[in-house]
Parts: sequence; structure tokens; C-alpha cells
Amino acid sequence: MTNSKVTRRSALAWLGAGASIPVLTACGGNEARAQQNFRVSYSEAEWRRRLTRMEFRVLREAATERPFSSPLDNESRRGTFHCQGCGNRLFSSAHKFDSGTGWPSFWQPIDSGAVGYSTDYHLGYARTEEHCADCGGHLGHRFNDGPRPTGHRHCINGVALEFRPA
Ligand SMILES: [Zn+2]
Repeated sequence: MTNSKVTRRSALAWLGAGASIPVLTACGGNEARAQQNFRVSYSEAEWRRRLTRMEFRVLREAATERPFSSPLDNESRRGTFHCQGCGNRLFSSAHKFDSGTGWPSFWQPIDSGAVGYSTDYHLGYARTEEHCADCGGHLGHRFNDGPRPTGHRHCINGVALEFRPA
């Protein structure tokens, strides 16, 4: 009993020490992002009114949907994927691939100005966070284990997207 308590406290202390620098860095990143002026901007109350609960959690609070939960993961028709928050064109079916992760995946955005990036440390290490360039809504993350020609894997929450068939 005593031993397990001590062990747990040590583990927490160790986690706390290890996490302190990334957490500070992440806060800095969020501040920098909040100071950006996005073309589309609403109050939190207005975003809540415009979005479903899950859309709000992902787009405005950077939550992640459960893998294989989005019908867009298997969407294979030709068309474009738009931001669920503001309608901005984000991805094309021409750049979509099946990554097997359970999230809609693309090897590039529809154009270089469609999305923006920041760095997040939510899992304790740096990841490239990806958001809509027009409204700042969180989309997912970009990884470097994607297919040619970019080698990128844009791992996107389907709930953040609206598919419009061609
Ligand atoms: Zn948007």
C-alpha cells in the first residue's frame, strides 16, 4: 500500500517534470494562433450554435473523433472536401488515399493556402497540427509517413469536413 502510493507519487512527479516544458510551449503556440486574425471569426457561443456538439469539440477544441467513425473515411467518389465550420475548400478526392488508420487521409491539401499549421505537444511530443486557413478550425495532423509524391499524410477528422460530390 505504502509502496504503491510512493511509486505513484514518484511517477506523477516524473510526469509533471517531463511535461512542464512541452505544456508551456503548447500554451505559447495556442496564444500565437489565437492572435492570428482568421477571415472567418465567431464568438464561442456563435460557433456552438452553428456546429453540432462533435463538430464543435473537434473544430474548436481540437478533439479527435474515434477512428473508423466517419463515413468520409470510406468516401471514394470524386469531389471536394470543405471545412464544416466555414465552407473553405480544403481537400480534393484526387489526393485522398486509404491510410488504414480509420481517418480520412490525403497526401496534400487542395492548394497550399487552404490550411495552416501549428505545433502541438498534447501527447508529449511535437506534432504538426493542421487547421483551416480561413476560420482556424482544427482539422487533424500532418505526418511524414504518407505516399508519394509529397510523403505527407494529412490525417483529418471526418467530422470537420463536408463532402461535396463533383
Ligand atoms: Zn474553416
